[in-house]
This record gives sequence, C-alpha cells and structure tokens, in this order.
Amino acid sequence: MKFSERYYKSRRNAINEISMKMNGNKSAILGVGHFISAIKKIQKEISILSASVTDTATQSLFYNTAIELIPYGRFNAQLVHPRKKEPFILIDTSIVDFFGNMSALYVTLYANNNNQNVLDITEQEVIDILFASAEIFYDGLGWESELNAIYAKKLNYNRIHEGNRQRAMTYSLASRLFIISHEIGHLYHNQQVGQFADKSSRLGKFWNDFWNALGGHMLSHQKERMADIHAVEIMLQFASTYKNNPPLFFDILNGVHFCMDAIHTMQMLKGKHKDVEGLKLIGVNERPTHPIGGFRISEYRDRLKKMFKDEFDSLFHPSLQYHKIVHPYIEKIVSGAVPSTDYFQMKELARNLLEPPWVWDNNSVKNIYGI
Ligand SMILES: [Zn+2]
Repeated sequence: MKFSERYYKSRRNAINEISMKMNGNKSAILGVGHFISAIKKIQKEISILSASVTDTATQSLFYNTAIELIPYGRFNAQLVHPRKKEPFILIDTSIVDFFGNMSALYVTLYANNNNQNVLDITEQEVIDILFASAEIFYDGLGWESELNAIYAKKLNYNRIHEGNRQRAMTYSLASRLFIISHEIGHLYHNQQVGQFADKSSRLGKFWNDFWNALGGHMLSHQKERMADIHAVEIMLQFASTYKNNPPLFFDILNGVHFCMDAIHTMQMLKGKHKDVEGLKLIGVNERPTHPIGGFRISEYRDRLKKMFKDEFDSLFHPSLQYHKIVHPYIEKIVSGAVPSTDYFQMKELARNLLEPPWVWDNNSVKNIYGI
C-alpha cells in the first residue's frame, strides 16, 4: 500500500480524534496487547482489500484515507469528514468481537440445522449469545457495561466445530471489510457530489438543483443506500481475487449477507428490553439513518441474483436460511425471553472482582500509535 502525504494528514486527524474520544465503554478487547494485534490485523486486511479494488477513484480513497481502530469507542463505524481537512474513518474495536460472536453462532446453527449436529447448544445458550452481542453492539452506560460486554457469555471459536471455523472466520472478515467499504462508499459519494457541484455542466446544475430542493441535504437513507451499493461493488472485487477458490469466494459473498443480517438482528432487538433488570439495550448510538436491514438485504440479493441467476438459491443457501434459523430466537426475546441466571452471575462476578485494568489517556494513545 503506497501511503501519500494526504494519508498521513488524515491519520493525524484520526489520532487526534481518537485521543479525545476514548471515553467509550463497549469494547470487549481488553488491554494494549489485544488492541495492538487487532490494529495490525485490520491494517493488513485493509491493504489486501484496497489492492483488490479495480477502479482508480476508489483505490485512491484507500490510499489517502486513514482507517483507524478506536478502542472503547461509542459507535461501530464512522466516517469523519471535517471541513477543509482530510477525512478519516474510525472503526470501533467492538466490531471484531461482535462479528466474531455472531459468526460463530450462525455457522454452528446453520450446520446443526442441516443435520450435521456439530455442537449441542441449547435454546437458552443461543439467547444468551444474542444478548452478549447486543451488549457489545449497543452503547453502554459506563465502565460497568463494558464489563458486561467482556464477561457476557460469547461463543468462542475454540468451542465450535473445527470444520466450521474457516467459514466463521471468513464471515467475520467479510463483515469487517464490508463495514469499512460502506464508510469508503460514503466518502466516494461525498466526493462525487463535490465534483458535480463544482462543474457548470448540465449534470452539475441538475445535481445542485436537486441538492437545494432537499434543503441542502440528500435524504440520508438515500446516502446510506449509495454507500451500500458502492461497498457491495468493492466486496465483489475483493471476492473475485479468490475466484479460483470457489468455497472461499462464496463464503465471502455469503459473509456480506451475514453482516447485513447480523446488524438487522440487532436492529430488531433494539429497545425491546428496556424494562428487563440489568439489560439496558436502549441508549443506542447507532445512527438511525442506516438503511433498514430488510431493504439493504433485498437489494444485495437482487445484485447477486443478476450475477448467478439459476444457481443463486444453492450458492447462497446459508444466506437464505438466516431468517428461518435465527428469527425464532429473536421472536422469543421480543416476546420476553431473558438471559440465564448464569449469564447474570458471571457479569456480577466481574463487577465485584475487577477494577478497570488501566486507564486510557492521550499518552497511551500516542504510545500505541507511535507518535
Ligand atoms: Zn452509513
């Protein structure tokens, strides 16, 4: 990856922002060691992703934009585009935990459901695991809720059947990259809008009129949709680099679908449990402008159907089964199912035994980032 002057400016803006914002509380990544390895992992993934992009406009966005992990952040992913400064992207470390937990759960349920019975997992355990995901996904209410995210029972990769680990990891990877691509998609469209607005062309004039008619703001869901469309194209290009490995190729494309499904699942849990003692899933910091889960999923499916036609149903079987497999649990939660006593006891134990292991300050940020 060739880094530009603009990239370094963008990165400095990101680091300044991170120093100010490390007051969040939902990441389950605990300690400098985990954090640094998470950063290295994501940086490596981003360079592989950007190398696979074929259009030069998008590729230059990757080369010029810092994509940094923010530990203990307050959001899942965010494009920050300050006026007259280089934009940057912040990704919360919690997305690593969130997609890890959800991918381990889904590949296991999918295999079980297709009569492979890879792991005995009770209905209550599934409900606990979904709640653990919600505790990571949603913004917490202080250090206490960070411990909730850490000690909530998650499904670790070492517990799932080894034949399913590869798929779980690929789903998790595809999800992280899709989230990053979505933010790059926003940047791409911001840039397009800027270019059109500068030109006195007919298209530029049309765009300006359209823009003004909306009161200066494009409808936010339309922006989200455009970012999604661009992100899907980036992921298709990324997947194509594995064309000679069809299982991996299709796991990546199913993984993007899984990502949208996992977020949709959380959107369905949102606000359902404000009255349950100890579970405050309300207080969500996710921007409500993101596309409604079902809509973004059906658009992605249409794109894949155009590409794979008659083979779509069999190639995307894991994606098409998600609703049938996961939603019965969501319905149980929505109609009142709660986590087990064990789930609460583990969190209580953590709360009583542990102090925050260390405190982040601006110097620890500078040390980690080497500035
Ligand atoms: Zn967005």
